[in-house]
Amino acid sequence: MSIDSLPPLREVIATHELAAQKSLGQNFLLDLNLTAKIARMAGDLKDCDVLEIGPGPGGLTRGLLAEGARRVLAIEKDPRCMPVMAEISAAYPGRLQAINGDALDVNPLEYLTPPIKIAANLPYNVGTELLVRWLTPPEWPPFWVSLTLMFQREVAQRIVATPGSKAYGRLALLAQWRADPKIVLDLPPEAFSPPPKVNSAVVHLTALPEPRFEADAGTLNRVVAAAFNQRRKMLRSALKSLDPAIEDHLNAVGIKPTERAEQVGLEEFCALARSLHKP
Ligand code: SAM
Repeated sequence: MSIDSLPPLREVIATHELAAQKSLGQNFLLDLNLTAKIARMAGDLKDCDVLEIGPGPGGLTRGLLAEGARRVLAIEKDPRCMPVMAEISAAYPGRLQAINGDALDVNPLEYLTPPIKIAANLPYNVGTELLVRWLTPPEWPPFWVSLTLMFQREVAQRIVATPGSKAYGRLALLAQWRADPKIVLDLPPEAFSPPPKVNSAVVHLTALPEPRFEADAGTLNRVVAAAFNQRRKMLRSALKSLDPAIEDHLNAVGIKPTERAEQVGLEEFCALARSLHKP
C-alpha cells in the first residue's frame, strides 16, 4: 500500500533519469513503507518543521510529509532532483521547500521556524561533518530538538560507544555530552539501490536541555580531536600541542598523564577542557 498518491520511487527514478552517482554518495531507499517507518522514528512531527539533507528521489521526504510534518526544508546538491521535489511539493501544498545547494553552505534557520527536527539519509561523505557541526554550536540548546540520521553502521556504533571500546572516540564524546543517542534501526545493504558495501543504521539523538558537564564546545572538540588522533599515545604526548604545561592540567583534573584517550570518560574530558579553556 502506498503512503501517498505519487508514483512509486522506481518509476520516479526512471522518469527523471536519476541514475545514482557515486560521487554524491547516492544510495537510494526505494521502499516507502521503510521511509515512513524512519520518519516515525523522529517522533511526532505534527507541530515541527523538519530539515532534511539529501532528499534524492524523495522517499524520506514523502515519509516525513505523510507522517504529518508541518513543513519540510530539503537541501539537495543534485539539480536532477529538483523536478521531483516540485512534484512532491504539488502533492503537499505549502509544506515542502527544496533548495538546490550544498548542505554545508545553507543556513536552515533562514527558512525554518522552531521547533525543528532533523531527519536524513545522509550522504556518507558529509554525514559526520554535519553531525559534528550540529553538536558543537557555542550555545546550547541548539536550533534542533532531535536528529534522526542514517549512517554507516560503523559510524553509528562510534556515536553510541562507551569508554574502553574500539569505537569510542570524538564522535561518542561529542554526541553523549549534549545529547542522548540511540541506534534505533539496522539496515542491510539490500535496503538501498544501489546497495552500498556496508551495513547501515539509523541513530536517533535527542538534544539534552543542557550539556551533561560544563565545558566550552570549541575547547572540548579540540581536546578530544587531539586525544583520539593519536589514540595509542599517552595523553601527555597526544595533547602536548594544546598546552606546553599539559601534564599539570592533566594532574590537576585527576587524569594520569600516562593514560590513553580510550580509558578517559566524558566527565574527565570536560574537566580537562575547562582547565585548558582560555576565554
Ligand atoms: N534521502 C534519499 C533516500 O533516502 O533515498 C537519498 C539518500 S543518498 C544516501 C544521499 C543524498 O544526498 C543524495 O541524493 C545526494 O545527491 C545528496 N547529497 C550529497 N552531498 C550533499 C551535500 N553536500 N548537500 C546536500 N545534499 C547532498
